[in-house]
Amino acid sequence: MQLKDNSLFKTQAFISGEWANSDNNETFPVYNPATGELLAEVANVGLNETRRAIKSAHTAMASWRELPAKARCDILERWHTLMLENVEDLALLMTAEQGKPLFESRGEVAYGASFIKWFAEEGKRVYGDTMPATSDRRSIAIKQPIGVVAAITPWNFPNAMIARKVAPALAVGCAMVLKPAAETPLSALALVELANRAGIPPGLFSVLPTSDAATVGNEMTSNTIVKKVTFTGSTQVGKLLMKQCADTVKRTSMELGGNAPIIIFDDADLDLAVSGALISKYRNSGQTCICANRIIVQAGIYDAFVKKFVAAVNKFTIGNGLDDKTSHGPVITAKATIEIHSKVQSAIAEGAVVETGGNFSELGECFYQPTVLTNVNDQMRVFREEIFGPVAPIFKFSTEEEAIAMANDTEFGLAAYLYTEHMGRCWRVSEALEYGMVGVNETAISSEVIPFGGVKESGQGREGSKYGLDDYLEIKYICIGGLQR
Ligand code: ADP
Repeated sequence: MQLKDNSLFKTQAFISGEWANSDNNETFPVYNPATGELLAEVANVGLNETRRAIKSAHTAMASWRELPAKARCDILERWHTLMLENVEDLALLMTAEQGKPLFESRGEVAYGASFIKWFAEEGKRVYGDTMPATSDRRSIAIKQPIGVVAAITPWNFPNAMIARKVAPALAVGCAMVLKPAAETPLSALALVELANRAGIPPGLFSVLPTSDAATVGNEMTSNTIVKKVTFTGSTQVGKLLMKQCADTVKRTSMELGGNAPIIIFDDADLDLAVSGALISKYRNSGQTCICANRIIVQAGIYDAFVKKFVAAVNKFTIGNGLDDKTSHGPVITAKATIEIHSKVQSAIAEGAVVETGGNFSELGECFYQPTVLTNVNDQMRVFREEIFGPVAPIFKFSTEEEAIAMANDTEFGLAAYLYTEHMGRCWRVSEALEYGMVGVNETAISSEVIPFGGVKESGQGREGSKYGLDDYLEIKYICIGGLQR
């Protein structure tokens, strides 16, 4: 792979401000999912490196938290600028290791960078409160950085899922130790190289690539220096990390799985609904936690919706994300295609009709055909489970109450969408949906200015917006008494 700046291609760990092999010189392979090609052998760190990184984060934080917020802001803004200056290289690395088309990778780098800029600014606005006074005492609440933060991130957004954790943490004066996903460490390592160039002090942000997530994760959740664990990934691993954090009562932020419904009412703008559902379902080949997982369409508009939706899916160009013509890339691993296919097959066995796709693709072991299923019901796995692939089951409903009940019939509660032109319905349904985020006539709901996060088993905490800082702050109450002496 030819980058404009080859020094962004890093394969070592970044610990205490230095690039290093793992202590035992072990590595693990990173592959391109579109071609199966070996991209890199990356340092495979373990327990000792994790402990060292945590210790140096603690040391680095002592002076970082004492800097004026403006000084931290200036450094973070330099990092933001460097990300944008290197967008092509960061996007190439991302497409190579993750598979998404280049235009999506460029978009993700800009999106990730926007969190650095946003929180650089917001870090200057950490305000406290004063409480009602009495004659001889004053009561004040101040906010302080929570301490060393450990972050564990997934492969589906190898840049942005890191940026929106590290930016608020550093902006308020914390230090961070990060374990990126083993599938996509190269984006994380390029990102920390740019942080280093921007002047982030040594030790403040370490990146620990590993294929042994359990060992590194176990240390992060048990080490008493770490005061907070922030995680994006599956609900199953999130629950495990929460249990592990309980022993030392660490704060956690959890951005977990979703099972997003998109409800299309008879009174919807059909073309708007079709394009919103397409983008939401198939972006990143269906591998986002806010992807429309269940398309729920009212009976009167159902046939027309399916026809337009299927016609649009049939126009997709599947291929290697590095090819400009590609609209949709591979999924992350061959194992993922097998998992996706098993959900499709189980739906078919229970009566689902394949409108298009429905099988592995000839393009390679990580490709799955964009698929649309009808005649589906709420007992099928494609209703109950997160699909995380390019498969769209389209369910039918009759009444508003039925749609709300179907939408809420899940343990997940991340994002939900609805399409309607009726003002009253827009409010009624939005408020009845048990989700952290609701998009009305819009599925591209994410940005740095909004509070991203879920309810129920989709997690806790918010990323982005002014609320995103709270996840990295503690409130301290100070009572000043004896004022009448
Ligand atoms: P996915 O199935 O989409 O890969 P995971 O929840 O397994 O989602 O992965 C998200 C992140 O969690 C990755 O960085 C992965 O390495 C990490 N992870 C997986 N298992 C553990 C574990 N036992 N402890 C800590 N981190 C883990």
